[in-house]
Amino acid sequence: MSDPIVLYDTTLRDGTQREGLVLSLADKLKIARRLDEAGFAYIEGGWPGSNPKDEEFFAAARGMTFRHARLAAFGSTRHRANRAEEDPNIRALVAAETPVTTIFGKSWLLHVTEVLGATPEENLAMIGDSVAHLRAAGREVVYDAEHFFDGCKADPAYALATLRSAVDAGATTVVLCDTNGGCLTDEVAAMTRSVVSEIGPRAIVGIHVHDDAGLAVANSLAAVQAGANHVQGTINGYGERCGNANLVTIWGNLALKLGRPTVPAGDDLTRLPELAHFVAEVANIAPDAHAPYVGTSAFAHKGGVHGAATVRVERAYQHVDPSVVGGTSRLVVSELGGRANAAWRLRQLEPIATEGIDAAEMSRLVKQLEADGASFEGADASFDLLVRRLQKDYAPPFRIVDFTVIVERRNGAPSRAEASVKVEVDGEILHTAADGNGPVHALDLALRKALGVFYPALDGVHLVDYKVRIIDGDAATAARTRVIIETGHQSGTWITAGADANIIAASLAALHDSFEYAIWQLDARPERRDELVSSRVALGQRSQPAEAS
Ligand SMILES: [Zn+2]
Repeated sequence: MSDPIVLYDTTLRDGTQREGLVLSLADKLKIARRLDEAGFAYIEGGWPGSNPKDEEFFAAARGMTFRHARLAAFGSTRHRANRAEEDPNIRALVAAETPVTTIFGKSWLLHVTEVLGATPEENLAMIGDSVAHLRAAGREVVYDAEHFFDGCKADPAYALATLRSAVDAGATTVVLCDTNGGCLTDEVAAMTRSVVSEIGPRAIVGIHVHDDAGLAVANSLAAVQAGANHVQGTINGYGERCGNANLVTIWGNLALKLGRPTVPAGDDLTRLPELAHFVAEVANIAPDAHAPYVGTSAFAHKGGVHGAATVRVERAYQHVDPSVVGGTSRLVVSELGGRANAAWRLRQLEPIATEGIDAAEMSRLVKQLEADGASFEGADASFDLLVRRLQKDYAPPFRIVDFTVIVERRNGAPSRAEASVKVEVDGEILHTAADGNGPVHALDLALRKALGVFYPALDGVHLVDYKVRIIDGDAATAARTRVIIETGHQSGTWITAGADANIIAASLAALHDSFEYAIWQLDARPERRDELVSSRVALGQRSQPAEAS
């Protein structure tokens, strides 16, 4: 069995270099805790010499117990003119009191002479002194060879000499960095292989690459295949410019494609999506739906041909079994999807009896509705209702007889909206009105008020999200609008959609589906609230508003 590949997480240090990503001290501690739970052996927490927040992080982390992880503080080698023990950056690293210190130094002569203004020999001494000092202070030292591959292309002997300085002084891991992220995979593989043969027996060789050429994951894997045993990266690939290597993808690939043992262990990856989503959530960045292994679309099939094949042989269009990474295959019902996609969805709906519904007819209906601007993609609840409504024994729980919405602003006062709806349930009609801070809000409240009279179970149902998209942008303000509503209840959330040239009518259609779906899912039966009975009038009589508000 080969040595395990150790995944070294630098989300809290290199990941925070991503434009727009800001982590508070509490956020950093939360992510560190989660990475430890996931089994990471190394968590790079920050650069204590560069900002007070990172110093506070290490101070706070000293009071925490980590089950798996060793914390690493990151910093640079000593300044050319300083002795290591007097260098402020090195002192801050020691003061962070972490078991591991990761320091970076220069491998590329261009940087040594032009950026640092040092001689090649001075740079080697800076690396050796810094590592030796940290070793003497009792730290495990990881040495990050910045710009290693670019340095190696310019002067391979010198680049290798910098690594030797670090290893001679006691670094246990030397990490080859593609700091500019522009190297090709065969270059990374060849240079890593030669370092492993020169340095390998004396130190662990690691890899740290950026994604500027879109190759960070590929280059990390190539380095592993060339003998690297330590891979640095970030959760979701967060990082400067185009990002760091995505450890989530690398972890999946190492375990599932290369069959290599990893730390954290790769034998159970079912919680991988949870980890990716947790970090995205804390970082306040929308999770990438199309991320390999963990995105919500990672195993979603939309094309008709793909759908048909997937129904027959599930792995026909899937590179791994989705359940291995905690996912499920999903067929997207849309105008691009054929009969198979609709049939698959029908099968998933089997518990509600889809007998007698023809998949081909269903597929035609979906295409027709989508051509008119409806969208079932992502609106599974509206699709399920479509099926439900085709069933012979289905009686809709309510009918919206009519509605009115008024929006007005007078004399510069804040605008107000009022909606009234007339709803028929069980042969009786109820007319209600409500004010809202906008027309959709008012409509939602009025509808809810009316339906709530008959279905008290709807009290626990609330709006989670409301999105509007213009379908036919060329038609400008005359364009059709698609409204997507997410509704929540303690039992879960569901998504419905409505489309119309009128944004209010589109919203009402989505709200209608949402309430109808809720009544169905909650198995709610009409039961009359006595206090409101007097406000109901029998069908055919003139209706009165239940409440004026
Ligand atoms: Zn980096």
